[in-house]
Amino acid sequence: MNDDLQRKLIIAIDGPAGAGKSTIASRLARKLGYVNLESGAMYRALALKAIDRDLSLDDEAALVKLAQESRIQLEPTLGGNRTLLDGRDVSERIRERDVTEAASRVSVHPGVRAWMVARQREMGAGGGVVMEGRDIGTKVFPDADLKIFLDADPVVREQRRMEQQRIKGEVAASVAADLRERDHRDRTRAASPLQAAGDAVVIDSSQLSEEEVLGRVEELAREKLGASARR
Ligand code: C5P
Repeated sequence: MNDDLQRKLIIAIDGPAGAGKSTIASRLARKLGYVNLESGAMYRALALKAIDRDLSLDDEAALVKLAQESRIQLEPTLGGNRTLLDGRDVSERIRERDVTEAASRVSVHPGVRAWMVARQREMGAGGGVVMEGRDIGTKVFPDADLKIFLDADPVVREQRRMEQQRIKGEVAASVAADLRERDHRDRTRAASPLQAAGDAVVIDSSQLSEEEVLGRVEELAREKLGASARR
């Protein structure tokens, strides 16, 4: 592998919750020396602020105004990604159940999405990024160098999520129900519904180990790097 390659790719990883995007995106970024940006954390941070202010999650105009007044920063660190909301570290709080549900609801609004997409484009413009989410390959970076759509059987995704959540003592059945509801909302919303870009490589991780998925994705990224070096 040629490490002198100058061009820094934009890699988009999209897919539903529980398909393994976050783990794969952060491990791939580390391998390539890239930055891993979790776009979902931005929707979560805005949702948290809306909860704290007691705003209606259905009030698009108020949510857009709130976003415009907010500073949401994604800070990749060696120990993982930090999310800052107006300078405050909210990395852990945004993973809680109420915020998770609220993030899914604020993300249906086209005005909120437009604000997020503009910020995400600024963050990733220089390349050298692995950005993950739901609409990275379709909307944020339709010209991304590599697009992965990471999917998995719903039952497998629910099981994975339950295993993660059980550590926090949550009831497994309600976790599965939440995931299904979020999934449905993401896939059926009018604005940028979750779907694979036409030119995305679809990987179904249901029967694959994390190492196998990572190996495949890394191979695709190295192929792209090789191709751009030959241009
Ligand atoms: O990926 P994560 O589960 O953290 O995302 C939280 C929520 O934000 C998702 O349920 C989805 O509704 C929304 N989202 C989105 N577009 C993205 C990333 C996340 O609509 N690019």
